[in-house]
Amino acid sequence: MGFRELPAIEEGRDGHADETTGPPADGRDAVTSLDPPGNIDTRTEFDDLRVLLRKWRTVPRYDGLPIYEELVLGGLGRIADEVAVVRQLEDGCATLMRAGDAFAAIVECDCHGRPLDRLAHGFQLSIELALKDARRTGAPSLQLCQAAQDGMISTVEIAALPLSSRWEGAFFLLFARARERQIELANLLINSMPEGIMALSALDRKNGAPTDFLILSINEAAARLFGSTSEALRSAQLSSALAGTGFEGCIDKLRDAVSRGNGHAVSLECSANGKSLQIGITATGSILTVTLTDVGVLKARETLFRSMFDDNPVPMVLRDSGGRAVLDVNDAALRLYRYDRTQFLKLEPEALLHGPSDPVVRPLTAVEAGGNPKRHRTADGRVLDVVEYEREIAVGGRPAVLATIIDVTERTRAEAQITFLAHHDPLTGLANRTVFTQTLETALGRIQSGGAGFAVICVDLDGFKLINDTLGHDAGDTLLVNVGRRLQALTRAPDVIARLGGDEFALILQSCAGPEAAAGHADALIEALDQPHWIDGREIRVGASLGIALAPTHTTDLQQILKFADLALYRAKQDSGSAFRFFESQMDRVVGERRQLEMDLRRAVIENEFELSYQPIIAVQTGGLRGFEALVRWNHPTRGSIPPGKFIPLAEEIGVIGDIGEWTLREACREAVTWPDSLIIAVNVSARQFSNGGLVDTVAATIQAFGLPAQRLEVEITESVLLNGTQDNIGILRRLRDLDIRIALDDFGTGYSSMGYLTKFPFNRIKIDRSFVADLEIDSGSRAIVRAIIGLATGFGMDITAEGVETVGQLEVLREERCSELQGFLFSPPMPRDNVRSVIDAYLGSGEVERDAIRQAG
Ligand code: C2E
Ligand code: CA
Ligand code: CA
Repeated sequence: MGFRELPAIEEGRDGHADETTGPPADGRDAVTSLDPPGNIDTRTEFDDLRVLLRKWRTVPRYDGLPIYEELVLGGLGRIADEVAVVRQLEDGCATLMRAGDAFAAIVECDCHGRPLDRLAHGFQLSIELALKDARRTGAPSLQLCQAAQDGMISTVEIAALPLSSRWEGAFFLLFARARERQIELANLLINSMPEGIMALSALDRKNGAPTDFLILSINEAAARLFGSTSEALRSAQLSSALAGTGFEGCIDKLRDAVSRGNGHAVSLECSANGKSLQIGITATGSILTVTLTDVGVLKARETLFRSMFDDNPVPMVLRDSGGRAVLDVNDAALRLYRYDRTQFLKLEPEALLHGPSDPVVRPLTAVEAGGNPKRHRTADGRVLDVVEYEREIAVGGRPAVLATIIDVTERTRAEAQITFLAHHDPLTGLANRTVFTQTLETALGRIQSGGAGFAVICVDLDGFKLINDTLGHDAGDTLLVNVGRRLQALTRAPDVIARLGGDEFALILQSCAGPEAAAGHADALIEALDQPHWIDGREIRVGASLGIALAPTHTTDLQQILKFADLALYRAKQDSGSAFRFFESQMDRVVGERRQLEMDLRRAVIENEFELSYQPIIAVQTGGLRGFEALVRWNHPTRGSIPPGKFIPLAEEIGVIGDIGEWTLREACREAVTWPDSLIIAVNVSARQFSNGGLVDTVAATIQAFGLPAQRLEVEITESVLLNGTQDNIGILRRLRDLDIRIALDDFGTGYSSMGYLTKFPFNRIKIDRSFVADLEIDSGSRAIVRAIIGLATGFGMDITAEGVETVGQLEVLREERCSELQGFLFSPPMPRDNVRSVIDAYLGSGEVERDAIRQAG
């Protein structure tokens, strides 16, 4: 409500003019004052004020004014309760002479003889204004006065009626009555607001413009702005409250605003002392509610918010409190959503929504932190996983919601990736062991509850290691990926294919309950894997071996079924490659034993459970002793002596042959130096020892360490040394020969293209495999071969030893065929070290040993 010029209390306008005395001499209305519109009309003609005014007009006058005694003593009746008599002396001092109870109750004090300036400030000012007005015009003056009490504000009508008296000073009759009470906001609420608030009433309206304002109520924030307290400023005149604050100019502005009557809400700015106030004015009835905001603080806050908002690298959207409209958006958000500002500001917030975030991969940390995970769609159609953190803030005094948007798309993806990685082999993308085991567990659980059986197939590539070693790991990886694809192409859900590690794959075929179906599938897999691969422009072939175990046929135990499939695979690999085998119960035992032996062998190397046996080498023609072949034995703590045929291949496989070979060489040399110089010592060296490297150095160091003449050491190799890494190995052989070490080709005739080897390297000796010797007497073919070998070797100047000579008949043939040496049970089996001395002595005793040897042995 604005301030308007209000109708005066005017008799006659409503047809009661006959009861009035007519307008006063100056032509003004009887009462000039603020009064709510329609006030008079709502009151009856018996309204107390109207009755009083009528009386005022009708009683006898003196000097133009009604005589005090005539009016008061003429009987005011009940009106006497609402009036007070005021005497104003020439010095301006006014005193309440007497007052009725109702009047006293309104001004809340005992009025008898009370000077006007000891009334509540608001009343004092209103009364003074009324008196002044009345005195000046000689007519009744009505003032409205707002009094704030106990958080309530009441409007009091105060009328001053000038009288004439024979007493000294000016006399007035004051009439006071309270209008309906207006309930204000609780002071508490007002005082707790950060904004300054005060309620004002206009004072002494002149020509429609109030001259000053009375502070009816003021909160602490407002009082602080004026450097005072609410206590001190309540009921003060605004002009005195602002005096010295620098904000005096505010009054003019307020006055201006009021007199212009421009609407219900007016906003002003007022600056002083570098402080800038924003003043909002709202009229409620005749009360001005004024809000005061320190714009400096506001501006600082606004600037801070702007920079925090606009320049924030984190996307932010400001929405209205209902979340309906976008009020603002920062650049980061525009970049994120790929909208331009105008487009974005027109968006309904839901326009961004793509749907709820995937609960499986929703970023847990974000949700825990109170965020709200959502899926948003960008202008260019991308889907983002975001987490919104909403905060209610006030913007320009209005509630709004600031949404901070965290783009968690990458993180969600990463989390999904992590989840994927936790379940998949990163190279091939196939399931990993964890998933495989889980699936297996579930499938076995189904069997327990009467479900169908299934097959587990373990797949291992044949010769993968060779490809990895020769073509490199990248090629190896590519190959594994290809293999994964081929296996996958043949696998349909609910079947599962996993890579368990290396070149090891496994399948759970839920669709293959019986052996026929499983075998059919295995065949298909083998065929697919047998196809050549093209890697780096090369054609590569790897076969695959498969092992199959069936549930429940073979087992329903989780650990066992995998193990069984693995055992079957092991057998398939041993048998041929590119084949499958079903699990059979004895596989478990065989492989179990092997595993045990493997562990035992590793321990044996550490504990040195080996021992050498020595088999004499005999000159065929003379029967003399040429030396000994050292043959290793393993004294197993519980299984007794284990022959080399049972553990040497295993030692080669598990990589401990180097250790065993070095030990053998040392022991043999240590022993041989105790023998006569004429005796040679033959030591078997595995092909693996050639590829391990360092063989020549080891041998050289060993003979030197024991002082064994090089020509007394004979290294026995097999054809496999010449088969693999030929050039390197021949190089090693040459270097050994350069050391004067003798080289013998063992097991001759059992390999591939035996005769050719004789031309490859100048061996010192060829040892004819005992399989030929065994057949010498009965198989003319064998004799022909032996004859050819001897003929050829002799031609190259090589010695020839026949192995495994067990009969005199064999000895006879070998002698006829001019074989140079022999070994065999006919003369002696390999013997422990302790027996060697007596054998040497025996041969020494027979006179067959060369003279110096006898001397040394003695
Ligand atoms: P090999 O080098 O051919 O050794 C000869 C094998 O024939 C020995 O078997 C020996 O006991 C056996 N033997 C000797 N005379 C006869 C006979 O008249 N009849 C029959 N049936 N067999 C006879 P052993 O000691 O079991 O050795 C087996 C193989 O183990 C050896 O064959 C050799 O290849 C390997 N070996 C033995 N010691 C070592 C070693 O220290 N290092 C390496 N790398 N291999 C070794
Ligand atoms: Ca040998
Ligand atoms: Ca041999």
